[in-house]
Amino acid sequence: RKWVYLFSEGNASMRELLGGKGAGVAEMTNAGLPVPPGFTITTEACNAHHYHNRQFPEGVWDQAKAALAIVEKQTGKGFGSKEHPLLVSVRSGAKFSMPGMMDTVLNLGINDETVLGLVALTGDERFAYDAYRRFIQMFSNIVLDTNPQDFEAVLERYKHEAGVTTDAEIPAADLKKLVGDFKQIAERASGQPFPTDVYQQLHKAIEAVFSSWNNKRAIDYRNFNKIPHSLGTGVNIQSMVFGNMGNNSGTGVAFTRHPAHGEKKLYGEYLLNAQGEDVVADIRTPSPISKLEQELPEVYQQFQEIAQRLEKHYRDMQDLEFTVEQGKLYMLQTRSGKRNAGAAVKIAVDMVEEGLITPEEAVKRVEPAQVYQLLLPRFAVVDKQRATYEGRLLSRGLNASPGAAFGKAIFDADRAEELGKAGTPVVLVRPETSPDDVHGMLVAKGILTARGGATSHAAVVARGLGLPCVAGCEGIRVSEEQHLFRVVGSDLVIKEGDDISIDGATGEVFAGIIKTVDADFDKETDLKKLLGWADRFRRLRVLTNADTPRDAKRAVAFGAQGIGLCRTEHMFMERDRLPIVQKMILAKTKEEREAALEQLQAFQRDDFQGIFEAMVDPKTGEGYPVVIRLIDPPLHEFLPSYEELLVEVTRLETEGGHEAELAEKRQVLDAVGAMREMNPMLGLRGCRLSLLFPEINVMQARAIFEAVVRVSTKGIKLHPKIMIPLIGHGNELKEVRRQLQSVAEMYASHPTEYQFGTMIEVPRAVFIADELAAASDFFSFGTNDLTQMTFGFSRDDAEGKFLLQYVEGLGVPGKKQLVKILPVNPFQTLDREGVGALVKIACEKGRRARPDLEIGMCGEHGGDPDSVEFCHEVGLDYVSCSPFRVPVARLSAAQAAL
Ligand code: PEP
Ligand code: MG
Repeated sequence: RKWVYLFSEGNASMRELLGGKGAGVAEMTNAGLPVPPGFTITTEACNAHHYHNRQFPEGVWDQAKAALAIVEKQTGKGFGSKEHPLLVSVRSGAKFSMPGMMDTVLNLGINDETVLGLVALTGDERFAYDAYRRFIQMFSNIVLDTNPQDFEAVLERYKHEAGVTTDAEIPAADLKKLVGDFKQIAERASGQPFPTDVYQQLHKAIEAVFSSWNNKRAIDYRNFNKIPHSLGTGVNIQSMVFGNMGNNSGTGVAFTRHPAHGEKKLYGEYLLNAQGEDVVADIRTPSPISKLEQELPEVYQQFQEIAQRLEKHYRDMQDLEFTVEQGKLYMLQTRSGKRNAGAAVKIAVDMVEEGLITPEEAVKRVEPAQVYQLLLPRFAVVDKQRATYEGRLLSRGLNASPGAAFGKAIFDADRAEELGKAGTPVVLVRPETSPDDVHGMLVAKGILTARGGATSHAAVVARGLGLPCVAGCEGIRVSEEQHLFRVVGSDLVIKEGDDISIDGATGEVFAGIIKTVDADFDKETDLKKLLGWADRFRRLRVLTNADTPRDAKRAVAFGAQGIGLCRTEHMFMERDRLPIVQKMILAKTKEEREAALEQLQAFQRDDFQGIFEAMVDPKTGEGYPVVIRLIDPPLHEFLPSYEELLVEVTRLETEGGHEAELAEKRQVLDAVGAMREMNPMLGLRGCRLSLLFPEINVMQARAIFEAVVRVSTKGIKLHPKIMIPLIGHGNELKEVRRQLQSVAEMYASHPTEYQFGTMIEVPRAVFIADELAAASDFFSFGTNDLTQMTFGFSRDDAEGKFLLQYVEGLGVPGKKQLVKILPVNPFQTLDREGVGALVKIACEKGRRARPDLEIGMCGEHGGDPDSVEFCHEVGLDYVSCSPFRVPVARLSAAQAAL
């Protein structure tokens, strides 16, 4: 088996086997660039090493020694030679870059004898012994597991005694002594003499790099970035070049374009007379790369040419590492540079315009999540760093809806509304939110809740509004009565009116103000161009979930092609309507109920009219499709909570003298009590509700048709679609359709192309999808409920109680690593194996029964890139997501199709 590849034997396509770094240097070597010679031990060898109980698999060591012999020839130096010592670096390098997570040893091959060769060769005793002490330090920390502090303490002592402040000023004679001290530290820690045999040094360093694949940092990093643990790391052994051999030497890093805003200009920094880690170590301040032009003009010229060549060669922005040894430039590494969202979009679009890449490639290159970030306010980087540094990070919750916000912490919706309307920035803090809080949420800059998950009321409403939300922040305890929250495990208290800042993308909660930077889609010309290309490639249509004309308009600006879900009950929740809804629910007589319904109908008709008018295709003047979902939640959601009422009634009873009020409250209490369910999510909601209270459906259907008539008479052609939630049995559908049909007939004099459709949210509906399709014009997967009912996980509670631990990993006795039960949160990313399998069955059955059946998805998953890809693969017609996710879905749908 071939375990070892010389750089000249590899190429860029071998990332899997050689790791990113190995493949990169191989490609550079073969492109004729100045790369110090070396070789790579494969990722397969790393995996085999773990598999064989941390023993080198057969052949690895022999092949490594043979490759080293070739490197000796290429460099004209000898490994362990007293005259011309070859020193090497030993570095990790996995398929995906994991910066700083694994181990590196530099200057390997140095011992008491070869160091003399180094002195003779360079004429620089200081340099040689400095290299030696650095080697002992790194080797010990990584291979022998010494405490880094032990070395630092000795270094400090030497500096103190010599009366100098930096490492570079320690005189050569002292460094020699220091090497002795360092060796003693290593010996004490390992109980063995420090290895002088250079081959033994190499063997141990390779082993240490293999093992570092499984250190905690690396595992955590992979978990966070969803990098498979099975990849393994390559090990790169490369001849050392020295940037610390005087002022015509140096080392640096550079990007071929700016990683924060994409400008096409070399960007980076370097240090003269320094070794790699000095640049990162923050001891000396590096100079900007442009200054190299004055300090070493020829080197700069050559570097710039190479940088351009590499960018052309890889057709992507590169992140370069280089070293200059006595005036000669060496390239140590090149890889695709990490960049933020803005830079990613600009670079992709610029490169298409420069003819470097095609529009397809540009579309494939930008991550959908980056697009989302671009549309949201974010913290100014420096301000956030400062806040963290100042210890103002209070807690972390679920990153329920991204974007950043600051404002005064306010603990009830009325007060939030009052202040918000007066222009004060407000962050609404609640134990959890309910429909009663919506008026406060509408004016808030952000939402923070102590309980609830990614599909909790707060999270869903916030995403719909494009508001930052941190939900389920269990590290705080909210007291509604005292109007404050406490930070668990500290004595910190945030009171009403105190400034706080939240980052819904990371779930972080800070004390004080962190300034935010706004986004403006209209000004994002590069992004619009990129999404325009994406539209050419995608097959899925992208609709939006919107309940208000404001949301609908915003979604159209983001490129939505219609509304896939209008949750009509959200209109009931607005403040001026809630009392009417309550009247309707609590009505004692038919007349009372009808009067309330009449009022609601007027409201709903106006809402629908507003939405239809907002959803007009500017090109054709025709209405986009609008899917209106009939009322879904159980009615008691519109009434005060039973517990609150009980407390209130008890208070009034004890105080005495409030007879009239008490009678009214008791009546409400009784009504709420009668409606209370142990499992409301599985209770009287969706179509069940409208079967028991048909007059609500009739009212909604009439409001829809009346709005259609009004808008149509303005000459706008509409395509209304009425959608029935939570169907589980064919007879439910039949009966609700009959109700709707009879309303439609009342408007027969105004012919409209309306459709009736079924939500697929209950597993049973999947298995009778053929029967349902026969009575439906379209299906829409409500994957929030379908996930809830397939897993049996409560969408309101699961995240806070166990689901986050399922995803992040559980501590298990006797196991060092956390055990992950689920790879991702199934309420965010569709579970293809289970829920996805149901989606497939329903599609097949539905389309068999009715080939022209239109099928979409409108759960939260409709805006999740991985789930959108799934929707494309199973052949859905559209996805529907909250307005801010529309651009994400456009890009994801294109990527799925490419
Ligand atoms: C769903 O269940 O996925 C859905 C879209 O409906 P809701 O979230 O309103 O229950
Ligand atoms: Mg639902």
